Amino acid sequence: MTLPRKRPLRAKTALKRRTPLRARSAKTERIYVTRRALVDTLLSERPWCEIRWDAGCWRRATEVHEPEMRSRGTDICNEAKCITGCHYCHRKVHDNPAEATERGFMIPSGQGRAA
Ligand SMILES: [Zn+2]
Repeated sequence: MTLPRKRPLRAKTALKRRTPLRARSAKTERIYVTRRALVDTLLSERPWCEIRWDAGCWRRATEVHEPEMRSRGTDICNEAKCITGCHYCHRKVHDNPAEATERGFMIPSGQGRAA
């Protein structure tokens, strides 16, 4: 139950936006449209887990991993920098960064392959 307000909420400023804030910029939106198409292509062309964290993994790939990591500004639309993986192996890569780096699933910043 909510109590009725004694005083109405007031805006702290008189400034008002005429358009709502975008969730993503137009530039980022264009990148994501390309990325979405790349992910669909990769998952249909390479349908099995390529990470294979456990040697016995033969699950269907549902995700695309970037060893150079998007947080480090890698080009997420470059097919050569992507590998497909199942959710389980992708999770393992990100949960065990030291081992993933050792096994080549994560590339430390500054050591990226040339594009
Ligand atoms: Zn897997």
